Amino acid sequence: MHTRKSVALAAAALLFFCLSVPSLSAQDIRGRYLIQHDYRPSDGLARIGWLSDYYPGLLGTPGDSKVYYFEGSKPGGTLFIGGGTHGNEIAGIMAAVLLIENLKVEAGRVIVVPNMNNSAVSHQEKESLLPSYTTRGPAWISIQSPSGQRFFKYGSRCTNLAHQGVPDPAGGYVHPDSNEAPLPAWEFRNLNRAYPGRIDSGLTQKIAYAVTQVLIREKVDIAFDYHEADAGGRLANMMVANPKNIGTAAAALFDLELDHGLSLKLEPSNMEFRGLSHREWGAGTDAQAFLTETPNPGMVENAPPDVDVVNDPKNPLGSRVAKHIYSTLAVARVYGESNPGRMILMSGLPAYEDLASQGLGPYLR
Ligand SMILES: [Zn+2]
Repeated sequence: MHTRKSVALAAAALLFFCLSVPSLSAQDIRGRYLIQHDYRPSDGLARIGWLSDYYPGLLGTPGDSKVYYFEGSKPGGTLFIGGGTHGNEIAGIMAAVLLIENLKVEAGRVIVVPNMNNSAVSHQEKESLLPSYTTRGPAWISIQSPSGQRFFKYGSRCTNLAHQGVPDPAGGYVHPDSNEAPLPAWEFRNLNRAYPGRIDSGLTQKIAYAVTQVLIREKVDIAFDYHEADAGGRLANMMVANPKNIGTAAAALFDLELDHGLSLKLEPSNMEFRGLSHREWGAGTDAQAFLTETPNPGMVENAPPDVDVVNDPKNPLGSRVAKHIYSTLAVARVYGESNPGRMILMSGLPAYEDLASQGLGPYLR
């Protein structure tokens, strides 16, 4: 039985405990590990969430990352855009940032994750990867915007080994659902070999699981994964589409050629090759799944270590960003034409030709 005195003592002890132990908010836990990206959302932003909202095991890890939501006043479909699967493929990250800083949505919803693998921008891996995957270029890029010079992180292809929590497999990496020969061991830390992801493995696999949950729980109609490739290689200037939505891709590429003179190659996902976003998102969720590849001068095999990945005369960053964004707009338009109740109407973005010729600077805040 409690006496009045013991209750008072207990209350005093509880008050002392609360005052002396600072409570750690989710924000504090995240802030301890994450790169502080300088992204300045447009007035059209509805709210910001986190990947850890979809898999709480990411909370407080370097794999957590911000999720930006734009919502139209009219109903429609949901478009997902991911940049930064590979932290050195800067046009994908900057296309997502340009969207965040300019986008307005009239109908439907747009969800943007600019740094899908936030651990990959925390380091610059130069050992043990293939030549075109080795990080070349600066740790940060700078772009002059109307409000002054802005800085953006340039990182690596894969998750930081120090963050993965599990060593790279000694015998090479095999996706759990794959029947193919082992890939190089570091592919274990490649987010685009990890889908649909799992929670009993490394950080990369947990990030993949969270992204898949975003697509499922948000009932995403169209999902884009923005990449870059060796500027002189086969993959550059390509759209890869899940076979189930290859027709949408073909119609969109036809429009891009007609409207902007932009010519992209088209390939279907290889359904035998497991773990890639367009393959697993398309098979495991209701989303139509696409991946776009732009030519990055920093991924050319013999590029110098100080290669300029922003102001390349042949493939400047603005033109690469324009290719990602306008490919996405073309797909959303084609999808809306055949699914009128799931239209996604967007505005506020610079014209393709202006972005390609003037670069990103004038269109960042
Ligand atoms: Zn990539």
